[in-house]
Amino acid sequence: ALTIGIVGLPNVGKSTLFNALTKNQVLAANYPFATIEPNVGVVNLPDPRLATLAGIFGSERILPAAVSFVDIAGIVRGASEGEGLGNKFLANIREADAIAQVVRGFDDSDVVHVDGKVDPKSDMETINTELILADLETLERAIPRFEKEIKGKKLDPSVLAAAIEARDELQKGTPLSAASVDLEPIAELGLLTAKPFIYVFNVDEAVLTDDAKKAELAALVAPAEAVFLDAKIESELIDLDPEDAAELLASTGQTESGLDQLARIGFDTLGLQTYLTAGPKESRAWTIHKGWKAPAAAGVIHTDFERGFIKAEVISFADLVETGSVAEARAKGKARMEGKDYVMQDGDVVEFRFNV
Ligand code: GDP
Repeated sequence: ALTIGIVGLPNVGKSTLFNALTKNQVLAANYPFATIEPNVGVVNLPDPRLATLAGIFGSERILPAAVSFVDIAGIVRGASEGEGLGNKFLANIREADAIAQVVRGFDDSDVVHVDGKVDPKSDMETINTELILADLETLERAIPRFEKEIKGKKLDPSVLAAAIEARDELQKGTPLSAASVDLEPIAELGLLTAKPFIYVFNVDEAVLTDDAKKAELAALVAPAEAVFLDAKIESELIDLDPEDAAELLASTGQTESGLDQLARIGFDTLGLQTYLTAGPKESRAWTIHKGWKAPAAAGVIHTDFERGFIKAEVISFADLVETGSVAEARAKGKARMEGKDYVMQDGDVVEFRFNV
């Protein structure tokens, strides 16, 4: 599944948010370094279409797409130099597809701030600097190794060239996502600043309902996406039944929980989308990249589906709802037979035909 690594300074609310993510009680305590074990939590990508499909097909169960989150320890200034928890922990997010940075926006004199004051801009700079330094360290270690391997003709020189270019950008203080370096040759290094970033502002209720303040914070991180949530409310929401949860959200001016937003924006940021399959057993969402063609999409279900792909019967979700059944959609010409060059659209309801 899509994996998002959570980073942030100590005491910004990562554990609290993560508790909500996993419904498990991981340690959330009011002191730095409470969260030293990496944890993984999986949340479902909310998709109301699945319940509709399950109604139409009489499905026994619903299987939404999933987003997994990796919680790592807080980063402190100097983390990349081995002070605090350091690089060992950053290693846990090397394999993440994206990074969510939790930024403290709540005021609470009972909760210690590691730098003594609540200052989102300065906090983000601290984290981003540490990530740049961590990437520099990774490259400084990789470059001599690459040089040796090229001498032994075991490596393509383009790998070294990319590494040197990336190092030079980082030395100027530029995160790799903002540099015009082709990172493909050094993808295996999992450089952190090359990953897509989402900013999660953990704020008080007062900020949640203050559009001007939110716009101000969002502007600090644009063009990256900003999610606003109150981690404490998120952890309360998980214990409520759907009606009470909706009521609590509404009382804070929200229509969607922060975790749902995070899953949705994570999908978007990574250029992912879902297509749907449905039958009496299950209604299910499958994760693919935008722009994928039908055979690749079929391959997500089973490699045999891709290898033996013949065609796909596709009905758009809207057409299926309008016609009310597959038979009716076919009768009205709304079921299309698509071949191997068909580019999948979000919410396509699909049945693949294939040879085994
Ligand atoms: P972490 O070090 O980033 O994992 O931070 P924690 O999740 O352990 O939170 C540190 C402290 O801040 C805990 O005492 C939390 O209860 C508190 N906290 C977390 N989120 C909020 C919030 O939105 N508002 C307030 N007032 N306190 C919070």
